[in-house]
Amino acid sequence: MRAAMDDVERGRRLAEWFGAHARDLPWRLDPKPYHVLLGEFMTQQTRIDTALPYYHRFLGRWPTLDDLAAAPVADVLTAWAGLGYYRRARSLHEVARRAVAQGGLPRDVPGLLSLPGIGPYTAGAIASVAFGERVPVVDGNVERVLSRVVALEGDPAGAARASVWDVARRLVVASPAAPSTHNQGLMELGSLVCRPRAPDCPACPWQSGCAAATSPDPTQWPKKAPARKPVAIRGASAVLWDGAGRWLAGHRSAGLLAGLWEPPRADDATALDALLAAMCGIVPSLRSAGIVAHIFTHRKLTCEVSVGRWEGPVSPAGPYDRVAWVGEPADCAVSALARRLVTVGGPPPG
Ligand code: SF4
Repeated sequence: MRAAMDDVERGRRLAEWFGAHARDLPWRLDPKPYHVLLGEFMTQQTRIDTALPYYHRFLGRWPTLDDLAAAPVADVLTAWAGLGYYRRARSLHEVARRAVAQGGLPRDVPGLLSLPGIGPYTAGAIASVAFGERVPVVDGNVERVLSRVVALEGDPAGAARASVWDVARRLVVASPAAPSTHNQGLMELGSLVCRPRAPDCPACPWQSGCAAATSPDPTQWPKKAPARKPVAIRGASAVLWDGAGRWLAGHRSAGLLAGLWEPPRADDATALDALLAAMCGIVPSLRSAGIVAHIFTHRKLTCEVSVGRWEGPVSPAGPYDRVAWVGEPADCAVSALARRLVTVGGPPPG
């Protein structure tokens, strides 16, 4: 790091900048542990503007951690609908249940890491913001800022992960500011000033101590390892409509989409026929409706969609432990994939 600014001065300037520029996020204004937990879970992989209405709705419905812990998980998943990444909602509910059972959220990083869905970033954020622990946080914004400040060689989300955490730890330990202020200031700096494509170096409190600021192209950091190509998988799904404009949904009990409802789906047309025969007693008459391409984290699904009508009895089978007829708006937790399948497989045939 350049000698123009030592770590204490860096912390002081960051805190001063944050004091003048911090956005008024509700979990910042009232950083109770439950509020910080909720804010952190909702803003992982989701824009703050999108998450805010959900945050207020959750607090209105479940004002305390105890209230959330006591709620049926299906209600939490339904309230989460539209935020995506339902695994977070399941983990949030499980965190609430376990925390309440042990007398509250753990205050330190090891205790927080023992809870589901809480990794090093979230643990650091809750420990420092809600409990004032002097521990680092590294999210995508922090990775970018620190990579540029020290001209980090290597991918801060890959091979150079430990290095960027070391820099973050060193800075929060040296900072004269409260850890909550320092860590949130660093994330805010990445979000508002050290932006991915257009860093505003003249407006940055760290400009005189930043290696990238002297480079013709600060955006060459962070260095990125080549992305892993998603694995291609195939599937087949049937959207079956009853006479009342509702579609047949199965509830997945395990796997990536556990707890969510979707139209019957299998690996291919033959397996789908077998699944429908088990659910309906026979394979209903179907016509082809189109193709849905959907990306999961590391998989790219190409799913053939068929559509048909069915008004007979149905029962759970295959990956589904429950079945239901779903109207619009859906009153249960429906995956983003399911919504796309139903869009392609509708409206119901006459
Ligand atoms: Fe980012 Fe520029 Fe600030 Fe360096 S000086 S941290 S590149 S905004």
